[in-house]
Amino acid sequence: MMGCASSIHISDRVVYHSGKESEDSQNCGHTRPSARQSPLTEVQFGPMKLYEDQLQVLLVFAKDDAQSGGFSWACERAGFRCNVARTPEAALESFQEKSHDLILIDHRHARGFDAEALCRSIRAVSCSHNTVIVAVVKRPDREEATVMPLISAGFNRRYVENSNMMACYNELLQLHHGEIRAQIKLRACNAVFTALEQSQEAIEISNEDQIIQYVNPAYECIMGYQRGELLKENTEVPKSEKNKPDLLDNISSCIHRGKEWQGVYYAKKKNGDSVQQNVKMTPVVGQGGKVRHCVSVNRPLNDHNKTEKPCERVQAESQTDIQQFSKHKDRRKGSLDVRSTTSRGSDAGSSQRRHSSMARIHSMTIEAPITKVINIINAAQESSPMPVAEALDRVLEILRTTELYSPQLGTNEEDPHTNDLVGGLMTDGLRRLSGNEYIFASKQVHHIPSHLTTPLSLNDIPPCIAQTMENEDSWDFDIFSLESATMKRPLLFLGLKIFSRFGVCEFLNCPEATLRSWLQILEANYHSSNSYHNSSHAADVLHATAYFLCKERVKQSLDPIDEVAALIAAAVHDVDHPGRTNSFLCNAGSDLAILYNDTAVLESHHAALAFQITTRDDKCNIFKNMERNEYRTLRQAVIDMVLATEMTKHFEHVNKFVNSINKPLAALEENEGSGDEDSVKNILTAPENRMLVKRMLIKCADISNPCRPLELCVEWAGRISEEYFAQTDEEKQQGLPVVMPVFDRHTCSIPKSQISFIDYFITDMFDAWDAFADLPNLMQHLDNNFKYWKGLDEQKLRSLRPPE
Ligand code: 5GP
Ligand code: MN
Repeated sequence: MMGCASSIHISDRVVYHSGKESEDSQNCGHTRPSARQSPLTEVQFGPMKLYEDQLQVLLVFAKDDAQSGGFSWACERAGFRCNVARTPEAALESFQEKSHDLILIDHRHARGFDAEALCRSIRAVSCSHNTVIVAVVKRPDREEATVMPLISAGFNRRYVENSNMMACYNELLQLHHGEIRAQIKLRACNAVFTALEQSQEAIEISNEDQIIQYVNPAYECIMGYQRGELLKENTEVPKSEKNKPDLLDNISSCIHRGKEWQGVYYAKKKNGDSVQQNVKMTPVVGQGGKVRHCVSVNRPLNDHNKTEKPCERVQAESQTDIQQFSKHKDRRKGSLDVRSTTSRGSDAGSSQRRHSSMARIHSMTIEAPITKVINIINAAQESSPMPVAEALDRVLEILRTTELYSPQLGTNEEDPHTNDLVGGLMTDGLRRLSGNEYIFASKQVHHIPSHLTTPLSLNDIPPCIAQTMENEDSWDFDIFSLESATMKRPLLFLGLKIFSRFGVCEFLNCPEATLRSWLQILEANYHSSNSYHNSSHAADVLHATAYFLCKERVKQSLDPIDEVAALIAAAVHDVDHPGRTNSFLCNAGSDLAILYNDTAVLESHHAALAFQITTRDDKCNIFKNMERNEYRTLRQAVIDMVLATEMTKHFEHVNKFVNSINKPLAALEENEGSGDEDSVKNILTAPENRMLVKRMLIKCADISNPCRPLELCVEWAGRISEEYFAQTDEEKQQGLPVVMPVFDRHTCSIPKSQISFIDYFITDMFDAWDAFADLPNLMQHLDNNFKYWKGLDEQKLRSLRPPE
């Protein structure tokens, strides 16, 4: 009995998915005594949790017979409450009192009561549309009459007489899990509609062809339309001519891809006025995974003074609230589904593609507080008088600077005390005015094995190696061929070639022999035993960095010293990587974690060690001949970039880049077509923006594997997975916490791990980087690779490649 009672409370999910549970509930029904309390069943309906009461059934049978007995027994067994009415009058009375979920009406006897008339009378009672009505009919000799008269009378279906108890019981079960459940959910829709009707925000629902299907009273009030006139004939969403045509294209392409769009948009009021609104449009996916509806929530931007009373609270100020409605995980999932079904980039022109990258940036899912602040101020500016708007401009300028909490030191600060205090207390090691390098025990430094020190010149690189590097300026360059041709010394050879292409030696005023020694000792300090973080990864990041440096926008932004810093940072950025993550080192209490206080442990070490091995020996000191100030600037830039590869700051770097660079550039382009040259140049070359470009550049280079041609991407995925597996093995062996339990070599799905990595870190970052630097080939590879992993995952494969 106890067991039975608890199994009644099975959730919707269990009912559908576990045959065993349903069996149990049937058995329970069977043995339950007739005097039972009403059990509540949970029914999940979208984000709502509904409770289904004990079902109320009404049997309308003029007299008891085997058929009515069968249904009574079936109700008993299913645990439904059952009333029996003998006459239409009694039936109506009972229904008005109890509003049954299900009514079964005897329709077998022409001489009894008129079942169809009874059904019509019941349907005339208000709210009877939530009741399922079934006609119990005679078994026809031949199936020749249609059920249409029954449907017209208001019946939902017919039951061909069969008094077998199991047949009656099965019929009730089907009705319960089919039509009755659906009615319960439809009833809940009334609550949702009420919420929409009460909302202060103007809400509009359209179908996939932008035909309006619903607007709420707030919408009527703000826009001046009556709902009736919008729903009357296939009315399209009213559009204002004030919107740029490609804005509308962007929005509709966003929605059709299943992506949310958020931004400022002109809507047309009934009186012809255009009203600027902050709009959030969310696609709703229906049958076939296609976008079937679009929900748009609108807040007027600048005319809250003019709107009538009930809408007064609709203000731009509460803008941030909207974002809390959607959890970004869910939205990302939506975008993911779309990515797998559309091929973006392949069929569109480059500028259209970059526009859609920008559109995605506008709806960027991982929204930092600072982004919200900037959006609010932008909205407030719209309705502010000139002096306020200008003051807010200056506020924005400050908010957009990269170091909000570090006072910017003037070069000739008046008071030396202030200078020292600020310099000594308020800034970190990177900005300290006098050097303070760490001293390392020499055992940490690898020396070059003597057989590898044979100097070679760029001119006498072995032909087989030179050949593998011929297309090093192409994105599709195969680093793994170089890895084998050089017997795992790709950094030396690719470094020589790329540094020479960029004139690094000339810039540093250093002999080529010094560069060679430097690359050699640097490469020797990468661990060839790591499957991922070895010198091939460094060479790969150097390659991507050089590739990005050749992009027009990047060239416009960076100075020669930035380029040199970027190339050096790429080459050194993972030096002496132990093949374990920061969290592992912290958990294990390693010397490095102790030294760096568990903070950016590896990145700090890579940067510090890079300078140590460079400067400890003149033979490989590429900075030796640099002018002191220039060296400090270069050093600062290298350190900043290496530290930027730390992943805990990933979203900070990406968000700052989008806010300070993508968005201002997009605003310029929107205002004056291609944007006036000087303003663009100002944005690109402001020192703090150059820093953001450099950080973004090395970050993108560092995790560009998913944008490489498929074969390279797959190889890298195999290597990083293997390195993580080895870490998990060691954690288990040493009884350390397992940092990433999914990376267990016995259970890991590599496709799933790649899908998550791309979805969480890569997509938004490369959308932003592509919008800036224009990288159609990378985005195409990313798309292909993503589909590749999705394909494997859909086949439930966990391996790197499909089986032969
Ligand atoms: P790096 O240590 O290479 O400078 O920083 C890149 C970070 O991204 C590292 O933490 C690395 O483990 C991680 N990473 C790179 N590629 C992948 C990948 O394909 N999957 C996952 N999960 N992490 C990756
Ligand atoms: Mn790296």
